[in-house]
Amino acid sequence: MIKNKKLLILPGDGIGKEVIEPVLDIIDWMAKYKSISFDISERLVGGEAYDAEGDSISDKTLDEAINSDAVLFGAVGGPKWDNVEREKRPEAALLKLRKELDLFANLRPAIVFDALVNASSLKKELILGLDILILRELTSGVYFGKPRGIESINENEKKAVDTQSYTTSEVQRIARVAFDLAKKRSNKVTSVEKANVMETGMFWRKIVSEIHESEYNDVNLTHMYADNCAMQLIREPKQFDLIVTDNLFGDILSDCAAMLTGSLGMLPSASISNIDSTGKRLGMYEPVHGSAPDIAGQNKANPLAMIMSFAMMLKYSFDMDDESKLIEKSVQKVLANGLRTLDISQKGMQIVSTDEMGKAIIEQLNVLMGN
Ligand code: NAD
Repeated sequence: MIKNKKLLILPGDGIGKEVIEPVLDIIDWMAKYKSISFDISERLVGGEAYDAEGDSISDKTLDEAINSDAVLFGAVGGPKWDNVEREKRPEAALLKLRKELDLFANLRPAIVFDALVNASSLKKELILGLDILILRELTSGVYFGKPRGIESINENEKKAVDTQSYTTSEVQRIARVAFDLAKKRSNKVTSVEKANVMETGMFWRKIVSEIHESEYNDVNLTHMYADNCAMQLIREPKQFDLIVTDNLFGDILSDCAAMLTGSLGMLPSASISNIDSTGKRLGMYEPVHGSAPDIAGQNKANPLAMIMSFAMMLKYSFDMDDESKLIEKSVQKVLANGLRTLDISQKGMQIVSTDEMGKAIIEQLNVLMGN
């Protein structure tokens, strides 16, 4: 067995540590039954790293992340660290990782599992079989644009400023990721901005269209204004397959799409970089949820978002589509068999702990493999 895939595991705080455990069991299972192994290292991040190492992410951990093929991240934060200075707060570790690894493309799938169709607040027929991907630009736009700040205009009046800005190459690279991903899905991209009222919107639309025309004219591209997109996501979500959009609109639309699926404990995500000169693309994979201090340490957390983030890692960092699908299939089966953690509990279903859910996934993997 060759261990050539370097994987850094950063469990973090609270339920982050609990939901990583079932993934480690799946990794052991893969070594045993699929002869796939990883060169794994594990380090502290978030509040626990602050307590032990004086910062929410040490330089050594950042270095390890840069030198890994993929990073699996649990969750960080908790009331214990609420008063820590801003640059050292647990959540700052995430921002540093995104910046240092140049993780400019954020992938948030919104998938409705048949067994959970009733967890959504939308009508069943609107979301049954839903499988869409929101691709958000993550490292530029209004959250990073300069100037920003609050200044005084006169004695009684102040002004707050944020700046939305994008460069040609920033839009080009996210557009290319969108078209490449679309080719592996339904060959359909909806690019979202506000070209009707914003300079950056017009610019975004122009650049995306140029890349489409010159490099990807075999992919189906449509443009949509962000406000209309928000409405259409609720009205008829299945019209979309892949939505690509900027940092701000992506932040809002991905949460909107996520809630079509009904539960925070079921939402995986990936953040990826460009392919470098050696052909390597860095990726960080993490559940959308936080460290859930209210249920931490109680073996109640739903590990499925973390498990599906791992499945995304197999697909996007290691081209292991079959293994990724196998894990997704076992999640589907376990849910169809009526097993539920507390957050997705339904009448008549069996409530299980984090550990038990993890074990059920392994059992299903064995069933699917005929072990
Ligand atoms: P949260 O996602 O941690 O929890 C929100 C609610 O959802 C809680 O009631 C929690 O119990 C529940 N929940 C979340 N994940 C669950 C799971 N897997 N299974 C069952 N229930 C689940 O958000 P919050 O309460 O706003 O934040 C708590 C801490 O996490 C804060 O310190 C916050 O800054 C941090 N946070 C971290 C990340 C991250 O690490 N990526 C993301 C969001 C929040």
